[in-house]
Amino acid sequence: MHRLYENNDITVFWDSEKCFHAKRCVGGCPEVFDPTRKPWIDISKAENPMMWKAVSACPSGALSCAYNHGIRIGFSEERSCSEAFDGETKVGECEYVVTESGWTICHTAVSQAYGGLGIAKRLVFRVLETAERRKIAVDATCSYALKVMNPGTP
Ligand code: SF4
Repeated sequence: MHRLYENNDITVFWDSEKCFHAKRCVGGCPEVFDPTRKPWIDISKAENPMMWKAVSACPSGALSCAYNHGIRIGFSEERSCSEAFDGETKVGECEYVVTESGWTICHTAVSQAYGGLGIAKRLVFRVLETAERRKIAVDATCSYALKVMNPGTP
């Protein structure tokens, strides 16, 4: 399961397959990470530095975070993609094709000037989360998306 939690400044990513429930996040910031609540992560409950520290303590890599750098991530069913915007300017996208078996992520790209800001990961997570919430199977031919989906593979 892939989830992303955003406020104005940061995005927290959670990949449930990597989580081995060490609960360091819970110990570090119990207001945000509460396994008895649904959703169990609520990033509105603490200040960013405290949350960032708790995310950094995750030993499995299930949690990670990125600054948003003012970039907004949207989702367009019509265009079959998630999209990144700097103001009104589109600066990245993650496209998928609809197949008989689900969605196949085929392309992820971010404008060169916006590289290294964590935007591609936010784009892929947005597609994965949307599909998973709708119980749609997802696979990928896009090498970057495959890396996000199967982080252990070369
Ligand atoms: S610290 Fe990481 S591995 Fe441990 S429960 Fe939290 S998300 Fe899972």
